[in-house]
Amino acid sequence: MSAQGRLLVCATPIGNLGDVTLRVLDALRDADAIAAEDTRVTRKLLSHYDLHTPLESYHAANLAKRTPALVGRIREGAVIALVSDAGTPGISDPGARLVDACLDAGLAVEVLPGSSAIVTALAASGLPTYAFYFGGFLPRKRGPLARRLESLADLDATLVFYESPRRAARTLAAASDVLGSRRAAVARELTKVYEEVVRGTLAELAESLEARELKGEVVIVIGPPDGSERSEPDPETIRAEVDALVAAGSSRKDAVADVADSLGLGKNAVYRAALEGEDAAD
Ligand code: SAM
Repeated sequence: MSAQGRLLVCATPIGNLGDVTLRVLDALRDADAIAAEDTRVTRKLLSHYDLHTPLESYHAANLAKRTPALVGRIREGAVIALVSDAGTPGISDPGARLVDACLDAGLAVEVLPGSSAIVTALAASGLPTYAFYFGGFLPRKRGPLARRLESLADLDATLVFYESPRRAARTLAAASDVLGSRRAAVARELTKVYEEVVRGTLAELAESLEARELKGEVVIVIGPPDGSERSEPDPETIRAEVDALVAAGSSRKDAVADVADSLGLGKNAVYRAALEGEDAAD
């Protein structure tokens, strides 16, 4: 056992076992124990990488009891790696409670980043990513589902939800009723053999998925309301804004920082865009 206990929150693959980081493999190898949502699932990952660290279960049904016990062991110096069945622990699966308890107890917590179905689906959807809202799993019953969707109708962001394959068509139909004709995508079995991303309007997707018996794991991604899509300012506009601030007495560095702030862009993007604007004006 190491002198300094800590909790290592380890992201694991959402399908393809190759999607694990070198740092996570080291952590899983060196930890005193691995707390896993389902030890059978994690055992497959460990045997694939020839790792033999002791596994113990940490899931929704035993976390009330197991959390104080794990905190106690970390306080005494144990290094505990926390993993869930897939992706980043704590994102719609057990983990957040243990992180909270460790931080409350003043213990060290490190997150080792990696896969998460949210970001993978968002990137695969091709829908706008300037802002997104992750809604976890939507309510199953019709009334609460409609109310939850209504509460999000005016949000200027892409919406991301986890969903069971059996309910996906119904959820898309409800979303079409409440949100209207938006672009959407269903990302299924990401990083796995039968990976598929289906795109269309909410109504088109609801209809096509209704006709299929969907299997596997599913993320629903719904684009922002029509007309609210923030367009990226063009390079000439950015350059004009930077030039105006410089003419008013700002240093070029400050001007770029101010324009980046006001447009919600990174400073490098503003530098690049200002340079492109200069080229275009030449
Ligand atoms: N902690 C995980 C993460 O970081 O993505 C999420 C756990 S949550 C209990 C499981 C849900 O994530 C599934 O029901 C599905 O909606 C989504 N999911 C996980 N793996 C997926 C995959 N390979 N393809 C599509 N969706 C996936």
